[in-house]
Amino acid sequence: MSESECVGPTSSLTAAVSATRRGFLLLGLVLLVGCAKKTTLVMLPNPPWPALDVPPLYPVQTVPPRYEPPPDPGPLPSSPSQATVLARSTWAQGEPLTTQMNRLSPVRYITVHHDGMDPFFDTDQRATAARIEAIRRAHRRRGWGDIGYHYVVDRAGRVWEGRSLRYQGAHVKHKNYANIGIVVLGNFDRQQPSEAQLASLRQLVSSLMDRHRVPASRVYTHQELAPTACPGRYFQQFMNTSRRRGRLG
Ligand SMILES: [Zn+2]
Repeated sequence: MSESECVGPTSSLTAAVSATRRGFLLLGLVLLVGCAKKTTLVMLPNPPWPALDVPPLYPVQTVPPRYEPPPDPGPLPSSPSQATVLARSTWAQGEPLTTQMNRLSPVRYITVHHDGMDPFFDTDQRATAARIEAIRRAHRRRGWGDIGYHYVVDRAGRVWEGRSLRYQGAHVKHKNYANIGIVVLGNFDRQQPSEAQLASLRQLVSSLMDRHRVPASRVYTHQELAPTACPGRYFQQFMNTSRRRGRLG
């Protein structure tokens, strides 16, 4: 029987005459079902959706998720000393190259340096800004992302922002991890630090120790961590004396 020659239960009656009533009914039902099925296949159009296109139980992501960088931590918590820190934007002639810098881990150390260039006695703000910019350029030429120090203390005792505290510094070889770097402007093998510098440095270090919970035993000079003359004999003397008096790390 072809699909187009489907016969209904009525046309089967003759063949079923001799059957019992129950047999007839069963046969009729079988024919009815079979025929209905075949009629359906002939008469109805194909379903408009592919047989396997069943909606999944859970949405399937066909596009890989886009990488989202971690959210910006926002401004750093304020501290009393922050009001007196001159922003990086007041002196820097170039933006930091953040791809070259790592995030600063929670601070554990503070290290003090001198700049070690020619002696510097200027207290003028513009001359000072130029000196800091010269240091930044020198550090960028080494391939670093920004000036290596986080803070600068000038001859007049002003404190300048260097590399943002969001980023690890570049000031002690192999020991920059969790280490805040402070540079005091001048060459303290060849000149004495000014009183204003010393007072300001003491205040800055003390404020950073409080803010980051750094104990005195983790405040260093560069030469205490690496073979170098930095921060110069006169400044090292000041650090040693301050420690003996319990006024610094
Ligand atoms: Zn140094």
